[in-house]
Amino acid sequence: MSDAPLAILAELTHRCPLRCPYCSNPTALAGAAEELDTATWARVFREAAELGCLQVHLSGGEPTARRDILDLVCHASEAGLYTNLITAGVLLDAAKLAALAAAGLDHVQLSVQDSEAGSADRIGGHAGGHARKLAVAPLVLAAGLPLTLNAVVHRQNLDRLPELIALALTLGAGRLEVAHVQYYGWALRNRDALLPTRAQLDAATATVAAARRGLKGRLVIDYVVPDYYAARPKACMGGWGRRFLAVSPAGRILPCHAAESLPGFDFPNVRETSLRDAWERSEAFGRFRGTGWMPAPCRGCDRAEIDWGGCRCQAFALTGDAGATEPTCALSPHHGLLALAVGDAAEAGEAFSYREPRRASTPNPPPQIPRRESGLAAASSRPTFQAHGPRE
Ligand code: SF4
Ligand code: SF4
Repeated sequence: MSDAPLAILAELTHRCPLRCPYCSNPTALAGAAEELDTATWARVFREAAELGCLQVHLSGGEPTARRDILDLVCHASEAGLYTNLITAGVLLDAAKLAALAAAGLDHVQLSVQDSEAGSADRIGGHAGGHARKLAVAPLVLAAGLPLTLNAVVHRQNLDRLPELIALALTLGAGRLEVAHVQYYGWALRNRDALLPTRAQLDAATATVAAARRGLKGRLVIDYVVPDYYAARPKACMGGWGRRFLAVSPAGRILPCHAAESLPGFDFPNVRETSLRDAWERSEAFGRFRGTGWMPAPCRGCDRAEIDWGGCRCQAFALTGDAGATEPTCALSPHHGLLALAVGDAAEAGEAFSYREPRRASTPNPPPQIPRRESGLAAASSRPTFQAHGPRE
């Protein structure tokens, strides 16, 4: 029997007013007409709590683009989940934040694209976005909500990391997440323009270490390092199907939000399956769970139950084989691919490839009737999360 998941990522929509070139959402986004309705999400939240989840990360796209966001927060809170809103912030105002707090919201994770407005707006592809975020941050605190600032860093903003740390202090954040880009989804298309240099990475790591010492008790800094300079992989999601599940806007139940990129999977859908069924019995969740699937050199490696073989999505993105040894591991026969990518990036320019704009104000679809409103539901059933993988 697998352990219970600790957290669920609820990807409420793919709609977003921003167009970050590092967005880890799929290259083919779900449209508004495919999104789950309020009642289905409410059932998903109840099932998640019954399954053992403690937290829900309400994400997207931009979760506040959902017109029913207050109802969704209310349902998640009533299910007993700790609710974390992962937002770009540009659709929020004082009234909306006060209403979210009243609905039971516990925490806000606000993204920033840079410390300088011009660069931030260029990166996010949204004019005026940075100023809006600076205005929203104090409103989060005024609503009585704790604030985490999420800074996704890469070659084109990493030199301003000290200013980003100062911004977190100025805005009153209790926590700052400094997250190097992870190269899935749209981010993979922009890898050449985003990958930092080794010198930038070393300087940033030293900056974070010094800030952690100097700001102890004032600001907690989480630091997500980039895989492309690593010698061993991270335990992606704490291991496939071990601690975490995600539900996509269209209802697919995933071991991580990037897993839709993997071919040959028939991921279960909340419209047809309970979370418990998916977690405990689906082939998709079992495929890379534990260590039995591992090829050499992972099989028998003393880190097999530490990193769980790293990230399957990255293995697929770089080698075309989701079951391959993670190329970020120096023991992988594919490890040389990372040095090649770093070399390519060193010769590349700064131009980004942006998604076509999608309207964040697209109305939600009319309520859908789930194909099997769960007879199964009765049987089933980190406050910060780097969902915007970074995405916000
Ligand atoms: S060989 Fe496999 S288990 Fe061992 S460190 Fe590398 S990726 Fe992790
Ligand atoms: S990273 Fe977040 S804010 Fe940026 S485009 Fe993706 S969903 Fe929107």
